[in-house]
Amino acid sequence: MSITDNIKEVLNTIPETVKLIAVSKFHSNEDILEAYNAGQRVFGESKAQELKTKQEELPKDIEWHFIGHLQTNKIKYISSYISLIHSVDSFKLLSNIDKEAKKVNRVIPCLLQLHVAEEDTKFGFTFDEVYKLIEAGQYKELVNIKLVGIMGMASNTDDLIQVQREFKELHNSFLKLKKDFFSGDECFKEISMGMSHDYSIAIQEGSTMVRVGSKIFGDRVY
Ligand SMILES: *Cc1c(COP(=O)(O)O)cnc(C)c1O
Repeated sequence: MSITDNIKEVLNTIPETVKLIAVSKFHSNEDILEAYNAGQRVFGESKAQELKTKQEELPKDIEWHFIGHLQTNKIKYISSYISLIHSVDSFKLLSNIDKEAKKVNRVIPCLLQLHVAEEDTKFGFTFDEVYKLIEAGQYKELVNIKLVGIMGMASNTDDLIQVQREFKELHNSFLKLKKDFFSGDECFKEISMGMSHDYSIAIQEGSTMVRVGSKIFGDRVY
């Protein structure tokens, strides 16, 4: 199967209302261009420097999303063009994104990353942490970022009931935040969840954006 066929297959299994982020990390410009020529315009990367190089070399109408752990000193590599940062996991990071966005005169949309999986290696806030952060309201002073929703990953397990439970937990967290803090804010609407092996379950549980890598591009060579 080619990248073109894979994209078509994935698109056939997701509703039009769900956005497909083609996760191209560790894949070549050539592979990305094949997906681009198949019509895909939204790509996700997890390393700021790798993304910077790709952004400079690839077509300018690509919508780039950042999905990995972002270090404060690397924000400047992506601030001028990034469409959405999925992986905000501290107030400090949010406030530094705001600072860099100001320098390039932009408002950068951001998702707050929630940790629901069992593995403790994954970054992200607990629900209580995120709730307190928003309740405190300090983020409202950051006028060069815009909170548009949440992101999360389920545990890497074959236990589909557990995966489903974790996606439900993410959806419920979103609904609670929406109700308590963003009921009048129509921009706060995204739930980024679901990867190659679990995106169908994520969509059943209310995902609005799926981040699919290996199912499109094949295995990554690190
Ligand atoms: C790599 C990555 C993905 C894509 O994973 P696949 O299993 O290849 O689909 C999705 N989300 C995040 C945060 C990632 O780092």
